[in-house]
Amino acid sequence: MSDKKTVFILCEKPDAAMRIAKALENGNSFSRKTLYGVPYYEVDRGNEKLLIVSALGHLYTMSPKIANREIFPVFDFSWAPRYLVERGAKKTKTWINVISKLSKKAQEFILATDYDIEGATLGYTILKYACGGKEKEAKRMKFSTLTTNDLRKAYESLLPHIEFPVVEAGLCRHFLDALYGINLSRAMTVSAKNWSGKYSTLSIGRVQGPTLKFLVDREKEINSFIPTPYWSIKAKIKVKGSIYEAEYEKEVIRTKSEADLIVDSCKNKIGKISRIEVKKILQKPPIPFDLGALQTEAYALFKYTPKRTLEIAERLYLSALISYPRTSSQKLPPSINYVSILESLKNHPEYRDLAGTLLTKNDLTPREGKKDDPAHPAIYPTGNLPERDLSPQEKRIWDLIVRRFMAVFGSPALKQSVKVSISIGEHTFYLRGRRILDEGWIKFYRPYVRVDEVILPELKVGDQIEFLEVLREDKFTRPPPRHNPSSLLKKMEAEGIGTKSTRADIIETLYERGYISGERITVSELGFDVIDLLDRYCPEVISVSLTKDLEESMDRIQSGNEKMENVIVKAVERLKPIFEEIKRYEKDIGRELSESIKKARLQERILGQCLTCGTGKLIILHSRRSGKRFVGCTNFFNGLCKTSFPLPQKGSIKPLHRSCSKCGWPLVQVKIKGKRPWILCINPECPSKKAG
Ligand SMILES: [Zn+2]
Ligand SMILES: [Zn+2]
Repeated sequence: MSDKKTVFILCEKPDAAMRIAKALENGNSFSRKTLYGVPYYEVDRGNEKLLIVSALGHLYTMSPKIANREIFPVFDFSWAPRYLVERGAKKTKTWINVISKLSKKAQEFILATDYDIEGATLGYTILKYACGGKEKEAKRMKFSTLTTNDLRKAYESLLPHIEFPVVEAGLCRHFLDALYGINLSRAMTVSAKNWSGKYSTLSIGRVQGPTLKFLVDREKEINSFIPTPYWSIKAKIKVKGSIYEAEYEKEVIRTKSEADLIVDSCKNKIGKISRIEVKKILQKPPIPFDLGALQTEAYALFKYTPKRTLEIAERLYLSALISYPRTSSQKLPPSINYVSILESLKNHPEYRDLAGTLLTKNDLTPREGKKDDPAHPAIYPTGNLPERDLSPQEKRIWDLIVRRFMAVFGSPALKQSVKVSISIGEHTFYLRGRRILDEGWIKFYRPYVRVDEVILPELKVGDQIEFLEVLREDKFTRPPPRHNPSSLLKKMEAEGIGTKSTRADIIETLYERGYISGERITVSELGFDVIDLLDRYCPEVISVSLTKDLEESMDRIQSGNEKMENVIVKAVERLKPIFEEIKRYEKDIGRELSESIKKARLQERILGQCLTCGTGKLIILHSRRSGKRFVGCTNFFNGLCKTSFPLPQKGSIKPLHRSCSKCGWPLVQVKIKGKRPWILCINPECPSKKAG
């Protein structure tokens, strides 16, 4: 036996464990081992031996003291291994076993999970419960990238302990989410079950409620919107041989007769330039990406949902290509070493010239935004080049991050706008020109900036302009647009609910529960009903203010200005009467919910209109005799229509509410586990199915 000390390092993901092992091996020995199928790394550094293990997400979870799912409200929770509480978390048992076995061999402990609330909380619970109370003595490794350099630096300058206030905020968040989620879910499920005798899980989380409420409110605004007509006028004009479009001085004309009058008095006339205004505008470079801004940009450019963007960014981070993406910082401190990042990027043919241009600048100062994050800088490329083939999606997000990083060091762009006023009698039209005089930062961000230049010929006051056509456009005022996942995320951000790490998931959950659908989000009837119900019986649950108050309290805990116990006591006090109210109206709530669920279930079975009888609806039915499912017409039940079609017996079937373009019968989506879903026309005689 040597008296070499053993150091236990806990990481968040297997890739991170591998990178830390490689970075710290010192050219000595580094080996990948497994225990009960769980991989870990052993590194011999001469004077010390490292055991590097990764977690498997959270291994522990908040569990109510009262396990009976029919009892609510419950206010007592404790941390328990996930495999005891959740179905489908069996794997975590082996993981906890391995971690606790390996930890027994160690004299020192280092937490190297993600440096944020979830990483700290997850690490804390594992150190405390799986490693036998090592949460107080463990040191903390802090890094924002998984590059060899940064990992070595982090190991050489370990923080003396884990970030306790952050952990406290994390523990508080988990408690509040459980308090809310478990009680509401039990209340809704139990009351519906007591009424209908059927068990169907319903739930709405602490942040989901107010988020769904935003969508319901928007939907109501859209539904109650009354479009009013208005008119606008455009003209096609000939300027020095080319044709341009000019717009009438008034964008909105209230009556059709006024619009017609203008058209009549201007068509086939010659106008005269009465004024030319030239403006020069300096446009500053963009600011570095925080997570929200990256998600917004990726949605606008590539239509990636916020969740997808985060997943891609996460993979790029684990490949050491970009810095930690869960950040709200818009700042890039000099310590990340701009020059060395640009020097490395120069080795990539795509970026050689651009990075080279920046490196010749005397002054490399990034433009920065206001938001800061004590844990991590804004998202930046590490300078590492890919060691593997990136997927097309990864390539796009990486390119976006690299170009954005370079653009923030660019000089302002100089743009010129020209507004030419053309008079015809008492009327005026505007011809607008736009051009870039000096592209500045745009050069670095080129593929992602829309540059629509309109370059006008030399013009002077007094020039005559021929009006080829004057057109009246009939328009209607429009309702506010539907939210999409990206605008919804921004709304949550602006209202201060959820966190940068959780928002994308919360939106995704609303989809999974069937409360919302579509990319331009519509709320399902079930979503409407749930919000309507909560609004009447316990409006506080879906109010922004309660959730926002709690978020602010958690921020105060994190900065060391508030105690978790106080926040929990206050939250329980505020929620107790709410749950009691729910209990009092349990019967009514149960009846309403049961009806909503029934309606929603029926809705899920309706495929569309029957083309044979024209009045019935096509619905998914199950044969009493064989149990097989098929499509039948609702008019079958009153003897008016016998239309029916077979259906595949495997997988799930979802109505698409669209008709087949070949035959007009409804289309459905068939999804079999593990296979790509496909679209099926329910009509077996459909021409699209005939070969040739
Ligand atoms: Zn029919
Ligand atoms: Zn068809």
